[in-house]
Amino acid sequence: MDYAITPPAQAYLPIRGSKAVFPIHRIYCVGRNYAAHAIEMGHDPDREPPFFFQKNPDNVVINGADFPYPDKSNDVHFEIEMLVALHKGGRNIALDKAMDCVWGYGVGLDMTRRDLQGECKKMGRPWEIGKAFEQSAPCSELVPATETGHPTSGAVWLDVNGERRQEGDLNQLIWKVPEMISYLSGLFELAPGDIIMSGTPAGVGPTKRGDVMHGHVEGIGDLHCKVV
Ligand code: MN
Repeated sequence: MDYAITPPAQAYLPIRGSKAVFPIHRIYCVGRNYAAHAIEMGHDPDREPPFFFQKNPDNVVINGADFPYPDKSNDVHFEIEMLVALHKGGRNIALDKAMDCVWGYGVGLDMTRRDLQGECKKMGRPWEIGKAFEQSAPCSELVPATETGHPTSGAVWLDVNGERRQEGDLNQLIWKVPEMISYLSGLFELAPGDIIMSGTPAGVGPTKRGDVMHGHVEGIGDLHCKVV
């Protein structure tokens, strides 16, 4: 292949305990997947169909690297989430086949320019400017499910400057991992390298430069990131 310009670098995440890395195809994010968070955002937590938005693969920030406070916002929020990494994809994946697609898990932050997202919601516009900006997805190393199993319960929390700000449990996910995969595969063709951010528990809030964030998903790992 003769590229007219230098092809963009492949986005990836490290794998814990391995020299190999996980190449990223797409990043899908589930909205309002914990009832307590739906309520804090002013929505009815009744089980409405899941909805999705995307981040760009190259929005990831490797564990331990800084998150630069982005331009054009004065209200950047943290959202701690479990990551689900796929090594198989397809269309219209049946519920009982969905878990065959899961390669492993991680811990991620869905950083959000809440003020810009709010304007988009009000005006019926797409969410990209609120969600898919540069370095908007700090992520931990991924861990293969062969090591972690497939957790359906376990604490999810975020400390900011040593103070617990978000807290939930994987057993509170409204749409469980196989349901997310099956539903999403009806809308998009899933592929190896896709990552799903599974939604955030309650307690989202604003960050400022100097904040030190420490996220955790029980049985999966830890994510450290400083706002600069
Ligand atoms: Mn989110």
